[in-house]
Amino acid sequence: MKLSEHQRIFTFNISKLINYAYMNDMELTFGEARRTNEQQLIYFQTGKSKTMRSNHLRALAVDFNLFIKGELTYKWEDVKLLGDYWETLHPANRWGGDWNKNDIKDGFIDAPHFEMNI
Ligand SMILES: [Zn+2]
Repeated sequence: MKLSEHQRIFTFNISKLINYAYMNDMELTFGEARRTNEQQLIYFQTGKSKTMRSNHLRALAVDFNLFIKGELTYKWEDVKLLGDYWETLHPANRWGGDWNKNDIKDGFIDAPHFEMNI
């Protein structure tokens, strides 16, 4: 399958995720989606990212700002509902709060991050 086909599936699934958030009394704004190599290098060198192979570079990842009752939150516990739903939408979907898909808060946590890892 071409990258563009994966990107289209990813984008459609993001629309479902956004809808699911609002159905559960959450609101979202966009953080980063597609990222340049230059920006990724800055994040890598400053420890904000652990990889130079981020799915943001392929337009297969997006970071959201989550609001609950009008309050911005990135807490793992708050975002987990969305992360769990995200991983039901496609077998290649991963939530940054649960890289290992083990339902445990372990390792490097990036709760606002949703990606398709192909
Ligand atoms: Zn991200």
